Amino acid sequence: MKRFIIGLVLLDNFITNLFKGLFPKRFRLSGRCNQCGNCCRRIILTLTPGQSKSKLFTGIAVRWISWLFDFILLEINRAENYLAFTCRHLTDEGKCGNYRFRPNVCRNYPLVDYFEEPKLLPGCGFAAEPN
Ligand code: SF4
Ligand code: SF4
Repeated sequence: MKRFIIGLVLLDNFITNLFKGLFPKRFRLSGRCNQCGNCCRRIILTLTPGQSKSKLFTGIAVRWISWLFDFILLEINRAENYLAFTCRHLTDEGKCGNYRFRPNVCRNYPLVDYFEEPKLLPGCGFAAEPN
């Protein structure tokens, strides 16, 4: 069941990225992944202020994400509107133990949006360059 849902999510991500690739963005990435594992140790999922205030929403979101992606909740930060997780699939060597079925948040990091400069974690081997 979990694999089936993840398959649909990955298909959605694939199609979205296909269309996103058709339009120019303000920034591009240079560098490469040095496998520091920082993006797996502390996964930040941003919330709107309304989502962040709602205990019902955050409760459901945390349960869903924890079950579907095998993430472990670290923090619900209502002041800065984000959820922070770590991941059961991160191996002691800093590698992904679920690479084929890793979620979109992992596939799309570092996220390159249309207008905003990509936000990179400390130690990340990528850099953002203006296009
Ligand atoms: S699924 Fe893999 S890539 Fe994603 S956070 Fe877990 S270990 Fe990292
Ligand atoms: S933070 Fe950057 S360099 Fe480190 S594992 Fe993630 S993508 Fe790779």
